[in-house]
Amino acid sequence: MNDNLIFSNSVSISLKHLFEKGEFSASAILVDENTEKNCLHLLSDRFTKNIIKIPSGESSKTISHCEMIWEKMTEFKLDRDSLLINLGGGVICDIGGFCASTFKRGIRFANVPTTLLAMTDAAIGGKTGINFGKYKNHIGAFNIAEAVIINPVFLETLETRQLRSGYGEVLKHAIIADAELWEQLHFSEKTREDWEQLIEGSAKIKSAIVNRDYKEEGLRKKLNFGHSIGHLLESYQFNDDPKFHGEAIAEGMIIESFLAYQMYLLSEKELGSICNRISAIFELNAVSDDCQKYVLENLNQDKKNKSNKNLFVLPKKIGEVLIDQEVKLDDIKMAISNYNDFLS
Ligand code: NAD
Repeated sequence: MNDNLIFSNSVSISLKHLFEKGEFSASAILVDENTEKNCLHLLSDRFTKNIIKIPSGESSKTISHCEMIWEKMTEFKLDRDSLLINLGGGVICDIGGFCASTFKRGIRFANVPTTLLAMTDAAIGGKTGINFGKYKNHIGAFNIAEAVIINPVFLETLETRQLRSGYGEVLKHAIIADAELWEQLHFSEKTREDWEQLIEGSAKIKSAIVNRDYKEEGLRKKLNFGHSIGHLLESYQFNDDPKFHGEAIAEGMIIESFLAYQMYLLSEKELGSICNRISAIFELNAVSDDCQKYVLENLNQDKKNKSNKNLFVLPKKIGEVLIDQEVKLDDIKMAISNYNDFLS
C-alpha cells in the first residue's frame, strides 16, 4: 500500500518534511510559463533555485521536450539521489515523472499538482509518459511519486474552462465508485473548504484503486471509463481550438454510457442521469462523420485492447463499472449516433 497523498495547508512545509525524510543531494523544479507565473512564488526559495521551464500545453508532452529537461537536469548536476519537483498540471506531472524515471536510470520525483485534473487524477497513481505522434501517452513508465502534495490554493488562478475540464475526472470517479459523491456534484460556486473536501474524496478514490492494482492488471482499468472514446476525440484535431482532456472525457463518458445502455447493462434512468448531469456542466459537441471515421480507425491502438478485441469499461450503474466489455464497431457507431441525437 502506497500512501503518498499529502493534503497540505502549506506546500513549502510539506516539501520541507519530504526533504528531511528523503535526504536528497539536490533538486530541480519543473514548471511551464503559467505555473512559473502563478504558482512558483507560493513556494519557499529553497525549492525554486534550479528551475526547468517548458512551454505549457499538451504539445509539450514530446520526446524533444524530454531532451530539454534532461539537458537541464544534467546542467544542474542532479544525481541518483536528487529530486525533481513537478509543479503544474497533468502535462508537467506526466512528462516530469517520465524524465525523472529515465534520468540516470531513475531519480525520485514529487508532484505538486496545480490544476483540478492533476490534483484528482494525473498526479496520482504512477503513470508517467509522453505522446508519440498522434498517439496519447504512447511512451511511458510506471513509477510512483515520492509524494503528491495537494493544496487547492493553486486553483485560484486557474481558468474556469480548465477547472471545468478537471471536473470531468471528478464526475468519472463518482460514476465508477461512489454513487453518494455523484449526488453532490454540481459545478457551482465553491468555498475553499468545499474544494478541499471534493478533491480529497475524488483523489482518494483514484488512490485506493491504484494501490490495489498499480500495473493495471484488472481493477485499475475502471479508471479508463470514458477514455477509450474520449482519448480519440481529444487527439482528433478538427480545428484550432482542441478539446481539453476533461471535455473529451465528458463526451467519451456519455458515448460509453450509451454503449452500456445498448448492451442492457445500464438502466435508462441512470443513463439519463449521466447525460443530464454532464451536459449541464459541459458544452458538448456532436461527433462529425470524419471524427467518427477517425475514432473507428484508431480504436485498435487502445492500450486496454487484447487480441484485436475492443475492450471497454462500461457502467452497470452509477457507482459501479464493469471492465473488459467487448464492443463491436457497429455498437460504437450506434452509440455515437445516439449521442448526436441526444445533443440535437
Ligand atoms: P495542463 O497541464 O496542460 O494544464 C492546463 C493549463 O493550465 C496549462 O496551460 C497550464 O500552464 C495551466 N495551469 C496549470 N496550473 C495553473 C494554475 N494554478 N494557474 C493558472 N494556470 C495554470 O493540463 P491538465 O488538464 O492539468 O492535464 C492534462 C494532461 O494530464 C493530459 O496530458 C493527460 O493525458 C494527462 N493525464 C494523465 C493522467 C495520469 O494518470 N498520468 C491522468 C489523467 C490525465
